[in-house]
Amino acid sequence: TKFNDLGLSAELLRAVADQGYSEPTPIQAQAIPAVLNGGDILAAAQTGTGKTAGFTLPVLQRLSDTPVSSGRRPVRALVLTPTRELAAQVGASVADYGKYLPLRSAIVFGGVKINPQISMLRKGVDILVATPGRLLDHVSQKTVDLSKVEILILDEADRMLDMGFIRDIRKVLALLPKKRQNLLFSATFSDDIKRLADSLLNTPTLIEV
Ligand code: AMP
Repeated sequence: TKFNDLGLSAELLRAVADQGYSEPTPIQAQAIPAVLNGGDILAAAQTGTGKTAGFTLPVLQRLSDTPVSSGRRPVRALVLTPTRELAAQVGASVADYGKYLPLRSAIVFGGVKINPQISMLRKGVDILVATPGRLLDHVSQKTVDLSKVEILILDEADRMLDMGFIRDIRKVLALLPKKRQNLLFSATFSDDIKRLADSLLNTPTLIEV
């Protein structure tokens, strides 16, 4: 498989070429067309497999395929990650892969001042990468609106559960529109993850690499 065969736009292929990638990794070859199709996915993937580009590229494409609302820009894609390090990494990938698209992104995590994050959010972001606790702080301060989220991505879902984030995740889920696309990435599949997947995903495409 080649990147050119996956259905990605010229802007995204150019950003991929800038990264120096010659061909998609196995998870990218499977995930990119599946996400572009609009369905839910359940992916078993460790870090190092290229999973970040596997969801970031098609999510960027889906958002750029439909016009951005003018005026206040609501969050349209939400990525939840267990740690600030992963949030920073995913946020950097979103910025890299999306550099030729007119989309805005932001990263929010705890342990740092909230005010700069509030200023970022106020400008309007299409894609928000967040850790669950700080996201809920923003929700309670009404500095983020999740009512227009079209795509939810749970990255390293097993680690989020291990770290005790299930209640926070459930609170976030309750704020999202019912009709949306869900992408769940996890390295392992405990009963807890299977329960979460069952309650979250609608006939998901299963991806294993
Ligand atoms: P990830 O598993 O998403 O954390 O990605 C692991 C590393 O693989 C990152 O440093 C990416 O920049 C790199 N990477 C992602 N996709 C490709 C690809 N198709 N070819 C070569 N390297 C890649």
